[in-house]
Amino acid sequence: MERLQKVIAASGYTSRRKAEELIKQGKVAVNGIVVTELGTKVSKKDTITVNGQAIKKEEHEYYLFYKPKQVITSMHDEKGRKTVADYFTDVDKRVYPVGRLDWDTTGALIMTNDGEFANLMMHPSSHLPKIYYASLDGILLQREKRELEKGIYLDGVKTLPCEIVIRGVDEEHKTTMIAIRLIEGKNRQIKKMFEAVGHPVKRLHRLAIGDIEVTGLAPGEYRPLKIKEVRVLR
Ligand code: URA
Repeated sequence: MERLQKVIAASGYTSRRKAEELIKQGKVAVNGIVVTELGTKVSKKDTITVNGQAIKKEEHEYYLFYKPKQVITSMHDEKGRKTVADYFTDVDKRVYPVGRLDWDTTGALIMTNDGEFANLMMHPSSHLPKIYYASLDGILLQREKRELEKGIYLDGVKTLPCEIVIRGVDEEHKTTMIAIRLIEGKNRQIKKMFEAVGHPVKRLHRLAIGDIEVTGLAPGEYRPLKIKEVRVLR
């Protein structure tokens, strides 16, 4: 059950504040009965009309997208660069990205038209784990790895503990391949963390958001999330 004004706003008919005014003015009916009480709760089965016209019920869609590199995580770019929206032109609903990946970062990105879900996922208290693979410049020392795992100060704020696994070392090209599991996502966090210990990130890929792995998709492909995947993320 949801509050009436919220359901009207979510349908795209108008803002929540305007919906409240319409309710107070007696312009809204639930199952044919005018309702002027702002706290009224409605369910999916109820028919809501505003000025005699049924509102469209919002249907939420959720996708897992494999973001390719050199694509901007936003719906529009003033400089005309490719954005994630360019990959969703076949989807009727206006789905937008949940959180961000840098222009040169590849991998898992969730796209949805469910604003409440997006806010929950992005809220710092959600602590939703995300797993990344990175190639680092230079050979990461155990001491540096431990320092990052405990947390370091970035822009005056300590990062939360994280887990890092060294997946391989390429002595010839002086590169370390790592996996990192983070439960927060500040702006450019991984790049800043490794820069801070002298190992700039050469390549970054997000493998998973929670338990949802991007494996099986090719860059630029997407698939709908399963209902149970959406529930787990919530
Ligand atoms: N951390 C970064 O530095 N960049 C990303 O795109 C994601 C996490």
